[in-house]
Amino acid sequence: TQRILESLREPYHIDGRQVVVTASIGIALLRQDGDDVDTLLRNADAAVQAAQEKGRNTYQFYSQSMNVALAERLSLESDLRQALERSEFVLYYQPQVDIRRWEVVGVEALIRWQHPVRGMVSPLTFIPLAEEVGLIDQIGQWVLRTACAQQVAWRAYGLSEISIAINLSGVQFQQADLVESIRTIVRETGANPAGLELELTESTAMHDAENAVVVFQQLKAMGFSLSIDDFGTGYSSLAYLKRFPIDTIKIDRAFVKDLASESEQAAIAIAIIAMAHGLKLRVLAEGVETQPQLDILRNQGCDAIQGYFFSHPLPADLVEQLIRDLRAKATHERPAA
Ligand code: C2E
Ligand code: CA
Ligand code: CA
Ligand code: CA
Repeated sequence: TQRILESLREPYHIDGRQVVVTASIGIALLRQDGDDVDTLLRNADAAVQAAQEKGRNTYQFYSQSMNVALAERLSLESDLRQALERSEFVLYYQPQVDIRRWEVVGVEALIRWQHPVRGMVSPLTFIPLAEEVGLIDQIGQWVLRTACAQQVAWRAYGLSEISIAINLSGVQFQQADLVESIRTIVRETGANPAGLELELTESTAMHDAENAVVVFQQLKAMGFSLSIDDFGTGYSSLAYLKRFPIDTIKIDRAFVKDLASESEQAAIAIAIIAMAHGLKLRVLAEGVETQPQLDILRNQGCDAIQGYFFSHPLPADLVEQLIRDLRAKATHERPAA
């Protein structure tokens, strides 16, 4: 098997260009793993999946646990297909705080799946699955519609200046009708794009940067704010960063984690702040959990933070309450004129 993989890995030359192909091989053994062709093929298929998950360009023998994993995945997928109509999704909102004024200036909408039996399923599990099985468009539209409706509700409630950030998945971003479907939802809900920020990860934006420039320009023209998420993990080209009509850079949590120790990660976080300001962009640090992290970010001139230090993501009514309490406290503490 190793020899097959190695010979496949040799570059091919097509039209004067070098092409490298890799393979994932699954192996099922006659008698041990099945007595008939159907069973053997099915089990070899499960082994191929496992090989791909191991990182491709490798091989994997079939084992019974693979069918268990496959069955589990299929069951999760079938539940996911019904989650929308069963109203099992809910949006949580995590406050984003202006570091100087210490005021909530926005929230990030984060989807939650409340499964009747499994309990809360993490978006880290079901968003990639939704992308793979073609459900992300519907889910993404539900997220946008729900966030837009929330904005309209908050406007009536006196919280109109709280901006709502919404995550766009890479798969969504590749859809040709993304901009049109966003336009429709905004029109139908009566939301104001000026109070909405669309987040795209750095790796997605850079993956097809030419397309990103075009889509960003269209969204910007509609009035949205734009931000690059998980910054620092995706190998940006500065040339593109300058061409993206973005407003905010979000420093990935990985670089905030060790801020208080003199690590390489800390140096990167500090460099990102300087670079963002050089490009006249707002910079927000994600995953801020401690006072020392906050102090360093403040000293470095970071504009905003988001993280457990201030608040976990919360249901809409609790976020409302938190913002009101903070405001009441600020008014109370302000010395009389
Ligand atoms: P993300 O966009 O980078 O969101 C930030 C994640 O970090 C959230 O996880 C949030 O709960 C978590 N977090 C916030 N503050 C802290 C902190 O101080 N410490 C730590 N350790 N974690 C913190 P969550 O909600 O589990 O979401 C995970 C990812 O799932 C998100 O990462 C995003 O990529 C994706 N996701 C969530 N909601 C949506 C959505 O509506 N649409 C799409 N396409 N993706 C979503
Ligand atoms: Ca995000
Ligand atoms: Ca992020
Ligand atoms: Ca992330």
